[in-house]
Amino acid sequence: MGVPRADNARIDPRRLWDALMDMAAIGATPKGGVKRLTLTDVDKRGRDRFRSLCEREGLTVTVDAIGNMFATRKGRDPGRLPVLFGSHLDSQPSGGKFDGALGVIAGLEVVRTLNEAGIETDAPLILCNWTDEEGSRFGHSLMGSGVWAGVYSLPKAYALADTEGVTVESALDAIGYRGTQKAEPFPADAYFELHIEQGPILEAEDRTIGIVTGAQAQVWYDAVLTGRDSHAGTTPPSARRDALVGAARIIDLVDRMMREKGESGRGTVGQLQVLPNSRNVVPGEVRFSVEFRHPDDATLLGLAEAFPKAAQAIADENRLSLALTELFRITAQPFDASCVALVAEAARRHGMSAREIVSGAGHDAVYVARSVPTAMIFVPCKDGLSHNEEESILPDHAAAGAQVLCDAILARANRSL
Ligand SMILES: [Zn+2]
Repeated sequence: MGVPRADNARIDPRRLWDALMDMAAIGATPKGGVKRLTLTDVDKRGRDRFRSLCEREGLTVTVDAIGNMFATRKGRDPGRLPVLFGSHLDSQPSGGKFDGALGVIAGLEVVRTLNEAGIETDAPLILCNWTDEEGSRFGHSLMGSGVWAGVYSLPKAYALADTEGVTVESALDAIGYRGTQKAEPFPADAYFELHIEQGPILEAEDRTIGIVTGAQAQVWYDAVLTGRDSHAGTTPPSARRDALVGAARIIDLVDRMMREKGESGRGTVGQLQVLPNSRNVVPGEVRFSVEFRHPDDATLLGLAEAFPKAAQAIADENRLSLALTELFRITAQPFDASCVALVAEAARRHGMSAREIVSGAGHDAVYVARSVPTAMIFVPCKDGLSHNEEESILPDHAAAGAQVLCDAILARANRSL
């Protein structure tokens, strides 16, 4: 009998799918989705379940001050930095079964596969469940990984409150997940995150694996256009200061600026509030959101410079005043070339159809990447639909993603230094 060979580790598709459905039962909604809002009792049940499954596999589970969970499998070489992988178990209020859960449960399947085959790794492995990726309860997405990465301070995160006035700090205490470990980056060799694409590209091209090369740059604004409420029947064109007409022209501007950038451009007005919102009043005020995204920092910077001026010109032409507040701007986050190459190599080895892709959404990996070499793996989801109870993926795609995750982790954890 020889030593079990790491390159023969094969994940068990059936066991993976059953574990996904088992987690999806926690917070299951009547429409087939999941409601597992962060730091609620339902989240606690998901976390408890995850902890006991990890402990059953011999992992040591620790929790940090913001509730991030780390399940460690020892390596042969205690001097090696750990290889991290995982995602998040919290969901949107009407979320799907796979957003986040896939990355965590596939990580568990990797551990089960290694245990079953008796495969040891040189480097320790750490499976992560990041707190509050979704941001829907406390209004701040990527909270756990953001605090861990030092993007937000712990006191700032603790003080965030939900609509009932419950703070993050008290919610952590209420479910018993305010850990003793410091929430700060610890040295790690790599981080891999498997996630559903949440977009339509892989499905449209009939690809199984997205080799994620990075995440795009973003800029978000709040806009308030102010004109004057007046009677719809008696106000002639020369006297109108119609804030909604101005907003419509700015929305068109956002769309045109996006389209000028080709298929990589993203520009969206997704929220609009019209005041007084009465059919026979010329609207005097409109509040709306604006965001632009692009994989290239310089292009995004160009959009962020041009948009406020062009929007102001539209406001002036329409005799409106514009208050534009930039909420935040994040630079593009390219992933680590050597980690990305391991993902590509794994897909190639298994003959899976794959393509490089830029993440359109934010992920915990984007913050982890600030201090740890990182890559992500995408698998297709039906109609590109996510943050929706109908979110669905094929068992074969889940298995393919988990296999690529497994191969990438093993290659990294056993690489010669
Ligand atoms: Zn997610």
